[in-house]
Amino acid sequence: MPTIRQLSSHVVNKIAAGEVIERPASVVKELVENSVDSGATRIDVAIEQGGVAMIRVTDNGCGIAADQLQLAIASHATSKIADADDLFRVGTLGFRGEALASIAEVSRLVLRSRPADCEAGAELEVVGGRAEPIRPVGCPAGTTIEVRQLFFNTPVRHKFLRTTQTEMGHITESITRLALAAPRVHFTLNHGGRLVHDLPPVTNLRERIAALFGAELADGLIEIESSEEQSPEQIHLSGFVANPSHSRGNNRLQYLMLNGRTIRDRSLQHALGEAYRGLLLTGRYPICFLNLKIPPSLVDVNVHPTKLEVRFQDGSRIYSQLLGTLRSKFLSTDLVARGAFPDRASAEAENSGAGDSAAASELYAWAKNQLGRSPTLQSELTGFSSNEIPGGASEALRLHEVGPDVVGNHPQRVESRPGESESVRIDGPTTSVSPPHGSPRALQIHDRYLVVENEDGLEVIDQHALHERILYEQLRDKVSQGELESQRLLVPEPVDLAASEAAVLLEQREVLSQLGLELEPFGGETVLVAAYPAMLANFSPREVLGSLVEQLQAQGKRPESRDLLDDLMHTIACKAAIKFGDRLSPDEVEALLSQRHLARDHHHCPHGRPTALVFTREQLDRQFKRI
Ligand code: ADP
Ligand code: MG
Repeated sequence: MPTIRQLSSHVVNKIAAGEVIERPASVVKELVENSVDSGATRIDVAIEQGGVAMIRVTDNGCGIAADQLQLAIASHATSKIADADDLFRVGTLGFRGEALASIAEVSRLVLRSRPADCEAGAELEVVGGRAEPIRPVGCPAGTTIEVRQLFFNTPVRHKFLRTTQTEMGHITESITRLALAAPRVHFTLNHGGRLVHDLPPVTNLRERIAALFGAELADGLIEIESSEEQSPEQIHLSGFVANPSHSRGNNRLQYLMLNGRTIRDRSLQHALGEAYRGLLLTGRYPICFLNLKIPPSLVDVNVHPTKLEVRFQDGSRIYSQLLGTLRSKFLSTDLVARGAFPDRASAEAENSGAGDSAAASELYAWAKNQLGRSPTLQSELTGFSSNEIPGGASEALRLHEVGPDVVGNHPQRVESRPGESESVRIDGPTTSVSPPHGSPRALQIHDRYLVVENEDGLEVIDQHALHERILYEQLRDKVSQGELESQRLLVPEPVDLAASEAAVLLEQREVLSQLGLELEPFGGETVLVAAYPAMLANFSPREVLGSLVEQLQAQGKRPESRDLLDDLMHTIACKAAIKFGDRLSPDEVEALLSQRHLARDHHHCPHGRPTALVFTREQLDRQFKRI
């Protein structure tokens, strides 16, 4: 029979270190968090060899009294909570009381500290968890902790250390997060005697972002803020998000802070992605720096050893608030791509090609940066938005699903209904939305672009992208209201397909039926089409199935059905829209332009490409050297 024994404190600490201290950056995080908790206004971090040789954190905080030094490095010893109830009132970054014990167990640690009201400081040295006697020392008020030879006594961990450069990358990222969460603290970071960061205290998060990521990124950010006024358990959301013209190929520039600590939360990342849906090209990720302030009683921070993940009591409420806040902000912000000037822009457009998402978005970013904003469109959108969103954030969330009540605007191809503009009628509060420039003068060129004069200058519109956007929004609104027109066939039409095609269609029958496509199995490789979307009335059922099958097969692994539905709506809108290359009559041009203002985001096609570029009169004047 095996004997059960109590583990020694060294083993306990090593086990804890295994969880909390993964690499040098974890030490930096724990030490700097302690310094922030100590009320420091200045924190200096010095690193040698990616932190493997040395990590030193110095602060000017409250310090530790000499007779408490021993306790500070003991496990389960903390000054931050006293009993279990305190776990739901945590206002500090630390509370588990195991970081110093863990670090001291796997390194050579020197702790030197002096509270401001003590004359002398004290020093404690710990080697692999064994403490030397405490010695008095002279030192400035505050605390310095120096950690050398990390993992010297845990060879397995030591083996997992990466190159100096990689470890330093993790440390820089740690400092970035801590510095974003505490903009009022002065941080410095040194590596091998070289100053990596000097971040003076600032009062505004935007300034800290500028210091860390450069003024160009910071200046282009859109500020957001929302709180639920009526609720005593208020959730306050503030911070910055990037214009969709600035995005990244990964989600590393998404910083989410909760009550002063950086967290990772899949659900909130999803909300962010949803807010940008249709504004970014596939494979691009939004940039954000968001602060959530939540009463500590509404969130459990004690679910993850490094507290990177937390558990919200009501996650869906926060999800809604984030999504709603961003959506309504975008509606009231002019996100149009402006001023891509011919010489450089067209050359780049040529090279980039529509499919090259990174290049296209760079081009778009460049174009966007050329000029300021259009006050007319901006106020137009603002009016639209305030009509649409009477209530707070959760009201705004509905926008995602519920659109303006567009009646009689049958989703048909423009060329098949030249007089369509007359049939457009808007009910409800959105009647105030009218084309801002009356009836614009417009010209189709190369069977693909519409050149439109407006009071600011001129716009070049991608006819397909714009139409696709309008149709996509109509489709989305109707699908969410269950009001999609579908064309019922008198006699269901059998369509022969490959076995795999029939299978994938029938598997998604339910989603497809939301889009007005009714399918029945007909044995073997044949499916019966009983009804299909009226928007695709000009295509044969076989053609419609063909496009949808392609989309379904491209999905690969089983996607969330909501994403699938959205992708299928993109496919339908793309198919139904006038083509790049279709010649339009003047009536058709006018019909298309008159619908433009019905789309909530007519600046981007559903894939996130811009639908229009703007050249202001001032730019034209300047190019022609008239000013
Ligand atoms: P925790 O932060 O979870 O309380 P730690 O092991 O990180 O646990 O620290 C133990 C205790 O040591 C803290 O509760 C705090 O009282 C003290 N301490 C650690 N670092 C500092 C510091 N830089 N300044 C003042 N006190 C500190
Ligand atoms: Mg701590």
